[in-house]
Amino acid sequence: MFSNITSYLCVKSKNEIENKHPEAMARIRGTVRVDIEKCKGCAVCVAACPFDVLALSRQVNGKGYPYAEQSHPDSCTGCANCAVVCPDTCITVYRQRDQNA
Ligand code: SF4
Ligand code: SF4
Repeated sequence: MFSNITSYLCVKSKNEIENKHPEAMARIRGTVRVDIEKCKGCAVCVAACPFDVLALSRQVNGKGYPYAEQSHPDSCTGCANCAVVCPDTCITVYRQRDQNA
């Protein structure tokens, strides 16, 4: 139930960003760093990402949990949805202006 609500909000957020601020979408690139050893593999961040950047790794951390990683890093906008929803503050988001835009 919670993931469905989250997905709905993220799709709505993505559409609002694209419709109202297309120039911002084109000029800002993001990347995230996941603290692998803190991650418990709950996948809340995976569901919250509006651009399908994140996925759970096939590898596990020292506690035996699959951890979040970037499966499509070029799609990251730095929106920080993933960092906001992570219950264990495992994600740090970095944003930079795209010099090619
Ligand atoms: S910062 Fe936004 S686009 Fe990038 S991985 Fe996190 S939720 Fe996805
Ligand atoms: S929300 Fe946080 S703890 Fe859960 S999979 Fe993502 S990074 Fe790991």
